[in-house]
Amino acid sequence: MDLREQLCGRYCSFYKPSRDEAVACGGYRVIEKLSATMSLDLVSCAETSSSYTRERISAVLCAACPFYRDDCDFARNVTDAPPCGGLIAIASLVEQDSISIDDLLSVL
Ligand code: SF4
Repeated sequence: MDLREQLCGRYCSFYKPSRDEAVACGGYRVIEKLSATMSLDLVSCAETSSSYTRERISAVLCAACPFYRDDCDFARNVTDAPPCGGLIAIASLVEQDSISIDDLLSVL
């Protein structure tokens, strides 16, 4: 199973398997970089996390995301849209102590 299936397919409500995604969101990029040096269990990781953790992650992750300015309603708070799957997965990994905010900052 590749990262798009493990991450986007499981966590992201915006993911369309048939679409050729040339640009990856900031969350995907972070998970991809961290996976190169850490063992991240995206399969058994919880799909839920607190809004507090998601806001902490968003504060450092979203500003570095190519979708932040024009394409992400969650980051712009214009609707009650959910965050991308990358942010959801990162927040869950942080809550279960698989990664830290410092790990996240090290690859941004
Ligand atoms: S929530 Fe939006 S801005 Fe933040 S990383 Fe995901 S796609 Fe990018």
